[in-house]
Amino acid sequence: MKKILSFAALGLAIAAAFLVARLDRGEPRDDATSPAHSIVRPRNVLLITLDTMRADRIGAYGYAAARTPNLDALARDGVRFDDATAPAPITGPSHAAILTGMLPARYGVRDNVLTPLPDPAATLAEQLSARGFATGGFVGAFILDRPYGFAQGFETFAGFARVDSGTEANAERTADAVVGDAVRWLAGVPAEKPFFAWVHLYDAHVGYTPPSPFAPTYDGEIAFVDQQIGRLLEALRARGTLEDTLLVAIGDHGESLGEHGEDEHGVFLYDAVLRVPLIVAGPGAKAGQVVAEQVRAIDVVPTILELLDVPPATSVDGVSLKLPLAGGARAEVPASYSESYYPKLHYGWSELRAIRADGWKAVDAPKPELYNLREDPREQNNLYASQRALADRMIADAARLERDVAGEQRAKAVAPDPETLARLRSLGYIGTSAPRPDGARGPDPKDRIGERDEYNALMTDAIDDLRGGQPESAVPKFRRLASMNDRAYDVHQFLGEAYERLGRLDEALGEYGYAAVLNPEAVTPIIAAAEVHMKRGDLANARKRLAETARIEPDAYEVLMLRGNILMRERRPDEALAAFEKAVERNPANPRARAQAAGIAVQVRRWDRAEHHLRTLLEMRYQPSRTYFALGQVAQMQGRTAEASERYREALRLEPGLKMAQEALRTLR
Ligand SMILES: [Zn+2]
Repeated sequence: MKKILSFAALGLAIAAAFLVARLDRGEPRDDATSPAHSIVRPRNVLLITLDTMRADRIGAYGYAAARTPNLDALARDGVRFDDATAPAPITGPSHAAILTGMLPARYGVRDNVLTPLPDPAATLAEQLSARGFATGGFVGAFILDRPYGFAQGFETFAGFARVDSGTEANAERTADAVVGDAVRWLAGVPAEKPFFAWVHLYDAHVGYTPPSPFAPTYDGEIAFVDQQIGRLLEALRARGTLEDTLLVAIGDHGESLGEHGEDEHGVFLYDAVLRVPLIVAGPGAKAGQVVAEQVRAIDVVPTILELLDVPPATSVDGVSLKLPLAGGARAEVPASYSESYYPKLHYGWSELRAIRADGWKAVDAPKPELYNLREDPREQNNLYASQRALADRMIADAARLERDVAGEQRAKAVAPDPETLARLRSLGYIGTSAPRPDGARGPDPKDRIGERDEYNALMTDAIDDLRGGQPESAVPKFRRLASMNDRAYDVHQFLGEAYERLGRLDEALGEYGYAAVLNPEAVTPIIAAAEVHMKRGDLANARKRLAETARIEPDAYEVLMLRGNILMRERRPDEALAAFEKAVERNPANPRARAQAAGIAVQVRRWDRAEHHLRTLLEMRYQPSRTYFALGQVAQMQGRTAEASERYREALRLEPGLKMAQEALRTLR
């Protein structure tokens, strides 16, 4: 947690940008008078983030068909913000804002997984943990897991175990599981300690499969999430800490549900995805109040800190909402900036920026847009042509703001490994595009959104073919995808894989080479090419590729695995053992490297290392019968025959047909 400089400059830039964008403001409002009842400072904080939740699908926001009694009650007992906005229509960047109070571009967080929240970010959890709070984070999607920076400051963090490629995706957890963890943790927090809990409920995301009796629909998932929120509140009540806990429930983004041609979220910046629920209840929130003025996700952290009377560690992009929470109105209502880099990063289309102020929204797109949100909340009527001066001014503000905010903190994209890509795909996030070398914006997403469904469907189909052992039918599909998006490096990676499986190794190398050119920061295509060379027994070229990866990410797990495999083929087992052990350190949960290390340790008679790795594999329940067999071998080679025979018998108990164990036991006798 380091201080980030030049906030003051940014604050000015924002203020200037937002003031310029202020329009038709009514009569200046009176400053708030003190609220009727005295404000008691909250002791604890429960932050609930509601993934993919549109404000207008909740009862308290006027949706008659809603089944959201708990959120509705929370709104009755607290403050409902009617016009809360997200900084990005996608989980990772939006959560970065909710947890830090900063615009996501400040830290370069522009995508899920590929742009993690970096260490220098001062998260709310870090700040509260430093003040003696017990901190617990509980997330429902792996994109908010520890490797992506979201566990910063949490003493307890319930995320996801990494799994080896080819097994289940292990990418999401349902609300009952997440809430169960949170409730158990709350029960263990000592009564004398204040706590900060963050509970992320992912269920409303596409794939509508709530448990019975909830309907298998978007609304059904929201009803299920609401029921689980009830469980959380009940746990607080049972603990006797409901009254002194500040409850904050906020959506990370909405869901387009077909509006503007978008089914889900991630591309556009319309209010279907930007307008989110925000409900605050507890000490400091005047019961039953509805705040009409625009507020932002980045305002949550400064609000919580001010209500707790904790001085912020750094200045932030958001502002405290203490005044409107207490029933007052602010003299200035800051504009809301949002951006979407998903179309650029995934489809090679233009990025979008939007600025929303005083009931207007301008969208900075290749074909710009302007909407009067008060008269046209569904953003059907683009007024850009008739109100060009206003729109251009707002768009210029948005562009300037982005430049100022992003500054030198340009997103450093992390090239995903195949396992991570598979998990992302299981959540519906498809495709990775290389930036255009000329810096051009690419096509307007409005003109291409119709292709997105075809693109996603074709991609899913082609990958299913590839994984299902039908590479020949995958090839034409990947070729079509490559023609739809000429910057999609992952398509070329997959095409290479399909050729490789068909034994067309030269074509495979060509595709891997193309992918590497499109994404020079990715080691995956280079490693795939090296493995083709190894298949051909061409160790010299495999070595060359290994040297290329060293330039990019020498200590990546996949690179260390490649180094170990090459060294093994070169009959340099001691160095291979060192490489695999380093890979184990990088990713201890993945058994592949450990199994290799154990095998080589036996070869070079490093019994202590072999025992250590094999015992760990047993704890991980990795192929237990075979691992017992290997442990038997290690004991036998050291002359401990009684122990060896016991281990062989254990192997046979687990897998009676295991020939090598039967054989070993016979020779031992
Ligand atoms: Zn989300």
